[in-house]
Amino acid sequence: MDDQPVAPVSDTDWRDGFVFVANQLSLDFVNTKPVINGIAVEMLPDAAALARWLAAAELISAGQGRELARTWLGKGGDDIARIQEFREALRAVVFELESGLDLAGGFLRMINELLLRYPLAEQLEYSSEGLRRVRRFDPFGPADAFAPLVNQVVDLLVCANRSRIRKCDSCALHFLDTSKKGLRRWCSMQICGNRHKVAAYAKRTREGRQGLFSLPQGEVG
Ligand SMILES: [Zn+2]
Repeated sequence: MDDQPVAPVSDTDWRDGFVFVANQLSLDFVNTKPVINGIAVEMLPDAAALARWLAAAELISAGQGRELARTWLGKGGDDIARIQEFREALRAVVFELESGLDLAGGFLRMINELLLRYPLAEQLEYSSEGLRRVRRFDPFGPADAFAPLVNQVVDLLVCANRSRIRKCDSCALHFLDTSKKGLRRWCSMQICGNRHKVAAYAKRTREGRQGLFSLPQGEVG
């Protein structure tokens, strides 16, 4: 048994190269343009990437994601531009909500137009717990991604405790704090929390040394 390889710890923050730390899909969508080493990185540059993200977000199956990534390859550039534009409008709204501001009328109109144009069909189906209502999403083209995205934005706006919508203390990612105490400060322990803890520990250790030994400035750290 001793020579069994250690199983890798599953990394739930990342799925197929996308980060999912927000506890809310519309915020995970905002997080598809993170800032890495000071540079904003576009994770949804084209329709094939969008198909992969929809599968990673579990809005479609992995097989459907692979199929759409193939059929959408090189297509839907205008739709992707609109989806990116919507994401940036949502990002601005998220910053406003985090600052305690109310939802701007222009964004509300945009959401209502998108809800009318990209409705999600509802279906009744059996599950292990009995009958349940499900929202059906069968994307034909990249723009159909608006249907689940806008639906998730509405969920965020109507259901979530807005004081729990936050930006990470250390990076550009946003999240919904669903912790019991509501004191979450980082996008995730793996991405920023541990780094912060290590830095804080190093700082405490340095300060401890300074306190204990009164090292002159410039000799520590
Ligand atoms: Zn972070």
